[in-house]
Amino acid sequence: MKKIQMLDLGTQYLNIQTEIDNAIKRVIDSAQFIRGNEVESFEKELAEYLGVKNVIACGNGTDALQIALMSLDLDKGDEVICPSFSFISGAEVTGLLGLSPVFVDVDYDSFLTTKEHILKAITNKTKVIMPVHLFGQGVEMEEIIKIAKQYNLYIIEDNAQALGADYSFSNGEKKKLGTIGNIGCTSFFPSKNLGCYGDGGAVFTNDDNLAERIRLIANHGMKKKYSHERIGVNSRLDSLQAAILREKLKHLDEYIFARQQAAKYYTDNLSSCTGIVLPRQVWYCEHSYHQYTIKVLNNQRDALKDYLQQKDIPTAIYYPQALHKQQAFATIQSNKQAIEVSEQLCNQVLSLPMHTELCIEQLEYIVKSIKQFFEEQ
Ligand SMILES: *Cc1c(COP(=O)(O)O)cnc(C)c1O
Repeated sequence: MKKIQMLDLGTQYLNIQTEIDNAIKRVIDSAQFIRGNEVESFEKELAEYLGVKNVIACGNGTDALQIALMSLDLDKGDEVICPSFSFISGAEVTGLLGLSPVFVDVDYDSFLTTKEHILKAITNKTKVIMPVHLFGQGVEMEEIIKIAKQYNLYIIEDNAQALGADYSFSNGEKKKLGTIGNIGCTSFFPSKNLGCYGDGGAVFTNDDNLAERIRLIANHGMKKKYSHERIGVNSRLDSLQAAILREKLKHLDEYIFARQQAAKYYTDNLSSCTGIVLPRQVWYCEHSYHQYTIKVLNNQRDALKDYLQQKDIPTAIYYPQALHKQQAFATIQSNKQAIEVSEQLCNQVLSLPMHTELCIEQLEYIVKSIKQFFEEQ
């Protein structure tokens, strides 16, 4: 059996080697390494795939969130609601811009922030809700939109982990995650559902005015060369990455399907296993399984992790510490609500190998090994 990896980008590449190699060669032959046709075409193709009016590519997912926040022209001290059980980016750029992240808890079953968490955190300084579509499925956006309307707030979706997943509204309408709020952001970090071969990110919006501002900010605040209308940043997707992403975008649905098939195998074969809780799929949204994250009960998470490691099965802990407990946010006093579920999750979560190239033999071995661990207890 082939060695099991958390993700197997090597094999994924081999399956599309000719396309990728040709794309890279195309860029090198053109000698157009920054901006140009590849980036423009990728933005158009991604916009079409997502069904959104504007896609602005940028340097990485963290920059995407920063640029999105900058485009809203907020004031120092304005509050941005962020989940505590997440990667740091959204809260980090909030702090960097002199805004205040207000951390909220998440639901134990779905790992996602809900309207109840958000409602408790709203103050007269709240300006933005920044939901994170964690592990591949979405926050209940229909509810978030209602709150945003009621309190006049912006929504920036952190869609770094769920690009391509379909969200279903109660009237039957479907939209891609990341295209529902005012602004959506994603990352093309290699491990993401749509990953490039380096760093990359993008911002999406249906609002043409915001799109214009976002494009300006991402490019040194300039529309005309050397004429700077505002302070911006230098954040761009390079042409090599854009060319690679154009090829990989053609496979995104197939990649999501492969993840869903692996997840289905885990769920079908681990559901009888007491001692762990399997990820719950929400009813209103497709799960694109960026991660398949189980919860290990009775303080056995680290023991199971070690046991699997001895059997050459890698696993990962996303995330070992909640954001409100991080030293970087030690001075943030804005939190008044308890964030206990996030802390509990940090002690229980274990993400199993999840990628587009898992074969049945590997899945069988992983499931068998997890069951063995509990039988030996
Ligand atoms: C990966 C990730 C980011 C940041 O993306 P980078 O491209 O690494 O900057 C932001 N938010 C979440 C939830 C992520 O998983």
